[in-house]
Amino acid sequence: MADIVFRNVTKRYGDTLAVDDASFTVNDNEFFCFFGPPLSGKSTILRLVLGLETPDIGEILIGGRPVNTVSPAERNVAMVFQNLALFPHMSARDNVRFPLVERRIAEAEIEKRVADVAAKLHIGHILHKPPAQLSGGERQRVAIARALVRDPNAYLMDDPISALDARLREETRVELKRIQRELGKTLIYVTHDQEEAMSVADRIAILENGSIRQIGAPAEIYDRPASTYVARLLGSPMMNILKSVRGAEGMEAAEGTIRIADKAAPADAVEIGLRPEDIKVRPWLDRDGTSDGRAGRPARVFEVEPLGGYTVVTLAAGQARLRALLRGQPDIRPDAMVAISCEPGRVHYFGQSGGALAR
Ligand code: ADP
Ligand code: MG
Repeated sequence: MADIVFRNVTKRYGDTLAVDDASFTVNDNEFFCFFGPPLSGKSTILRLVLGLETPDIGEILIGGRPVNTVSPAERNVAMVFQNLALFPHMSARDNVRFPLVERRIAEAEIEKRVADVAAKLHIGHILHKPPAQLSGGERQRVAIARALVRDPNAYLMDDPISALDARLREETRVELKRIQRELGKTLIYVTHDQEEAMSVADRIAILENGSIRQIGAPAEIYDRPASTYVARLLGSPMMNILKSVRGAEGMEAAEGTIRIADKAAPADAVEIGLRPEDIKVRPWLDRDGTSDGRAGRPARVFEVEPLGGYTVVTLAAGQARLRALLRGQPDIRPDAMVAISCEPGRVHYFGQSGGALAR
């Protein structure tokens, strides 16, 4: 068992609170992702797991064993380094062997472990090649093999693919997810890319200034963000968040430019959140602008971004700007009038301090 537990862990650097009272459990075999903006404490958490830093307060357990005073070597957690750099002058095989040769493991044992890990990662047929002759995905597998050949309890990755170009990143993250599932080992993964976090993780922990703001499965956090902070971090285009007031018929946001006919709207909501894909955009029927508003409130199309499979439409509704995500390539032009609306069930409500409110 290699579950990893933090109990109220705090770590300071001088006056900087790098990790603030963090509590979480990474389950055995889980692909667990820390996601947050730069300087939110992601790397510090990894260093605390590795044992390169010690908590000022709180306790860390690996596989049920308290490890605050256990050395990094004894924790047996492997870091797969930032750029997955392989030694270019060595074959893939020698790269994988390296950590064992360095530890003076007997040759027969090295061969056995390399064969095991190569079989698990499906790289037996490329071990003779130098890194320059491997594809991005193959290099990834070899770098992971090199980390896993030590047979660690868990492995950690700190933004491992941020240096790759967009296409290679997409390919590599699919690969990573597949590898982790096949290996069945605990993986803690750090990224500052929301799409990457959503796509790879079993669960995500969202960080802000060293504090964990929410932990959950990607879809759970996306559908029920605990605050406007979390809501803004996940999803592209970002959730539309608008000042709102409660009226007799429901919520009015952005000075009446959107109305949500929701009698169940919480009385203390001060903002509403609308995911771009939840905004309905219909033609504004009456040319003279005297539509009865049944299709929604009027908005003017500010700009249209056709992205092939879907289209992002930026709308000017009164003083507010909203972004809607539409399927395909609808016939919508800049400056056209449209009617916008949103199902009450799709609306997110937030209170004074930015916390989500239940309907
Ligand atoms: P992230 O990986 O999310 O970018 P870090 O864990 O690197 O965040 O940093 C969290 C906070 O701790 C930041 O404010 C950073 O400046 C500070 N910090 C990190 N490492 C050190 C260090 N060795 N000395 C001083 N401050 C540090
Ligand atoms: Mg970092």
